[in-house]
Amino acid sequence: MHANIPPKPAYIDLHIHSTASDGSLSPVKIIQAANKANLRAIAITDHDTVDGSVEALQHQYSSGVEILPGVEISASFESGVMHILGYLIRLDDISFRETLKVLQKARANRNLQILKRLQDLGIDISYDEVLKASGGGQIGRPHIAHVLVHKGVVQGIDEAFNKLLKKGSPAYAERYRLLPVEAIEAILVAGGVPVLAHPFTLNAKTEGDLERVLVDLKQAGLKGLEVYCPGHGPEVTARYERLADRHGLLVTGGTDFHGTLKPGVHIGIGRGDLRIPYRLVEELKQSAS
Ligand code: AMP
Ligand code: FE
Ligand code: FE
Ligand code: ZN
Repeated sequence: MHANIPPKPAYIDLHIHSTASDGSLSPVKIIQAANKANLRAIAITDHDTVDGSVEALQHQYSSGVEILPGVEISASFESGVMHILGYLIRLDDISFRETLKVLQKARANRNLQILKRLQDLGIDISYDEVLKASGGGQIGRPHIAHVLVHKGVVQGIDEAFNKLLKKGSPAYAERYRLLPVEAIEAILVAGGVPVLAHPFTLNAKTEGDLERVLVDLKQAGLKGLEVYCPGHGPEVTARYERLADRHGLLVTGGTDFHGTLKPGVHIGIGRGDLRIPYRLVEELKQSAS
């Protein structure tokens, strides 16, 4: 008799950043944290790179947690931030890798511009310091924020963004981004499932505005909506779930975990109350096949 075997954990986290982009934990450390949090499936969704997913998948068989290939691509969107997640992409797809290379180059140019703007403001941080903070992966604004905190220019990551780095702030620099339809197409071509990340960052003024964006994205090939996000609470989650249902979109969810680069958000549970059911992974896999 095996009366006391605990049931398999049923929760997941499909939005995690590693040191390959702007997370503070390596893919291996993320797998360890996911096991500690008793998660059944995860996806590493780094900005504009699949290096984190590739590394995690090398540990799939010894990891004790199911790992889905993932990526997060920033798309251009005037009135807010639009991130498109790509799940179950073929990680070695040549055209997808080429697209990522273009985005990575744009990112590198933009980082230098931000440092130049900071210098013009009398804030002297070097590329080397930022590189060190990044641990060798894709550099993003959170790494610049980290150096600013470390050097005592600001008190915290949030202040770094609000005072200096966010859109409209003095050290902000634009970078080349794909159009939403291009980001979706790139993911589809690589056999992946495109999902709109954290829809609240679109800054839609009304639900009608959000729905109009969803209709356009769906027409471009969007297949899912990230319904479970930290801070949503049951009411907001239910509202997004209804939206997904109404527009025939899959439901996904994740914490957008960045480790110490986004304090207060924990793997699997977000700010403490997130529980994302495993059945969403089954639906995602069905949609890809
Ligand atoms: P980048 O990819 O360089 O454009 O930087 C964007 C990333 O910065 C986002 O994916 C978040 O990880 C982070 N971020 C954006 N806004 C904030 C904020 N207000 N506070 C902390 N982190 C932020
Ligand atoms: Fe990020
Ligand atoms: Fe994002
Ligand atoms: Zn993210």
